[in-house]
Amino acid sequence: MVNFDVKSMRSEAATDVLILGAGPAGTATAIQCAQAGLDVAIVEREQFPRDRPGETLHPGIEPLLQQLGVAEQTLTPDLLRHPGIWVQWNQAHFVPFGKDDTGVWRGFQIWRADFDAALLNHAKKLGVKVLQPCYPTALLLSADRVAGVKTSQGALHSTFVVDATGSHHWLARQLKLPITYYSPRLIARYGYATGEIPQSSPAIAADNQGWTWTVQVRPQLYQWTRLSFNQQIDKRWIPPEFAQLQPIRTNAADVTWRIVEQPAGKGYFLVGDAASVLDPAASHGVLKAIMSGMMAGHIITQIFNHAQPEQIAIQAYNHWLHTWFHHDIQKLKELYATLPTPPQ
Ligand SMILES: Cc1cc2nc3c(=O)[nH]c(=O)nc-3n(C[C@H](O)[C@H](O)[C@H](O)COP(=O)(O)OP(=O)(O)OC[C@H]3O[C@@H](n4cnc5c(N)ncnc54)[C@H](O)[C@@H]3O)c2cc1C
Repeated sequence: MVNFDVKSMRSEAATDVLILGAGPAGTATAIQCAQAGLDVAIVEREQFPRDRPGETLHPGIEPLLQQLGVAEQTLTPDLLRHPGIWVQWNQAHFVPFGKDDTGVWRGFQIWRADFDAALLNHAKKLGVKVLQPCYPTALLLSADRVAGVKTSQGALHSTFVVDATGSHHWLARQLKLPITYYSPRLIARYGYATGEIPQSSPAIAADNQGWTWTVQVRPQLYQWTRLSFNQQIDKRWIPPEFAQLQPIRTNAADVTWRIVEQPAGKGYFLVGDAASVLDPAASHGVLKAIMSGMMAGHIITQIFNHAQPEQIAIQAYNHWLHTWFHHDIQKLKELYATLPTPPQ
């Protein structure tokens, strides 16, 4: 088995790991690598704080954030918490997260601008260099390896490039990596509204055309997501249960189920939405972004420490990500099969 020479690559590269994007996937990768003593840089296009959807977190995120050393900064005591989710698929029923000896598990309602900024600040404290606002313009290749990126602030050479830029798949498109689609085109509309209405736990309710998610994010702020399988949603649409609220903004996102066939290769790793996307009914997008970032960071560290040859490590990451993605697809299919009109 031929392993690339980490030592010689390292002497040519300015940085061990260059991460594109400072969402949860990018910062989790950065923290994991920096904790292991690697030299890390992040390139982020937007000035923080910036908004992103994805406010409802499963309680399973807590141990991961503890491992990254950011649980206290991100899961602050003022967050709204809930013991489960109301699901009205056929009949309304409450799906609890579970419990153990310490009590009932409760999820978290975060605000992504604060959450992402806290992760990025922690990365900076660990010595991660952050270029912001800055964006990649082209990949740098050396023989058949990814060896860095050209950015709006100049060329950055690195031993590994990690794409964490989210669902537009920047690096996959640069390398023309195949992306496989597993659903018809799915566009989710989402929005925010202010005011005061009685709300309990987050709720997802299905109807003949799709489903609607409603949730209170923090005092006087509510979020909704609507996924219509075969129908366009009017830009002014708002869920009837939010009719008394004041809408503040709406947006749309392509949530077609998809995965980049080779999420890791010579000199690169794709993490979070940059590697694979599912619609938000699968939930856990932020959890998965963090898990894939930590896994990529762990594998990259193993390569640097000569604990695994690069080729084997890459295969392990690709296998892990595919297994996980197909498991989730199966779950989503089973869920949608119980609807009167599943996506065609
Ligand atoms: C409507 C909707 C509702 C959702 N609700 C939930 C939820 O309740 N819970 C949940 O867990 N998940 C939810 N998700 C999924 C969640 O939003 C994503 O899975 C998660 O944000 C993925 O994290 P990421 O770090 O991979 O990417 P992102 O969060 O998209 O972060 C990417 C980062 O890269 C930066 N970037 C982008 N392009 C470039 C570039 N060219 N150069 C440099 N930087 C760049 C961006 O500015 C951003 O900071 C929802 C998704 C949608 C669409």
